[in-house]
Amino acid sequence: MATTDIKLIPLRCPDCGIDIESGEDDIVHFCSNCGSGFEVTRDKFKKVDIIFVKPKEEFANNKLYYLPMWQILSKISISKKPNIDINQIPPEILSNDRFTSFLAGLLKKEKPIDKMLFFVPAFGVTNRYQLMDQPGYLFTVKPPKLESDSPKDMVGAEYSLEDAVELAKVMFLSIQYHTDKGLMGLQGADIIFYYEKARIAAIPFYEEGAMLVDGLKGHKIFKNALKDWEKIKAKLEKN
Ligand SMILES: [Zn+2]
Repeated sequence: MATTDIKLIPLRCPDCGIDIESGEDDIVHFCSNCGSGFEVTRDKFKKVDIIFVKPKEEFANNKLYYLPMWQILSKISISKKPNIDINQIPPEILSNDRFTSFLAGLLKKEKPIDKMLFFVPAFGVTNRYQLMDQPGYLFTVKPPKLESDSPKDMVGAEYSLEDAVELAKVMFLSIQYHTDKGLMGLQGADIIFYYEKARIAAIPFYEEGAMLVDGLKGHKIFKNALKDWEKIKAKLEKN
């Protein structure tokens, strides 16, 4: 039997007993009936907190598709104090950007440790998914207000929490690299993540030509930055 012929036996929601249909590569599964989420990796079965996010009114009339993103709260510490004086850095370099101020604040502290909330895709991405201008990054530097909504159909969560924590680290280092202009002086310092808690946020998106637009802030992402947009869409429309 070719791998494409493998059909998964539908999972049964542990909370309400209804059958759940997921994608072949999905690791986190969502119940559109009771709103439960659970992660199945190797031999582990774990409940996942999930919030179905209400779209902003101005976007609510579009045909919405929900895509899963991890929200990860992480403590970040810098092992050794970088050899710079934060007060010597020109203010135009330490722009108003929330992330830069986070870093600047961290560096000012005697014991550099702080918390940060990351938004990382749980849906599979291609190499078109660029770190600097996609919703995950933009939500991370400027978090949207998340209002809870009733459960929706959602599939396509291919990244486990473990994967997502790694993605958050990469994002942190990448943003740091792009904001530092060589002046933040973190090179050579160990950046340590202490993952604290996580949940999945079901984010509404709608189609606009070759793009998907999020229904919270209107950030755009190329459809082909997702690994399987057409498959995800087909699955969501079948239900
Ligand atoms: Zn259920």
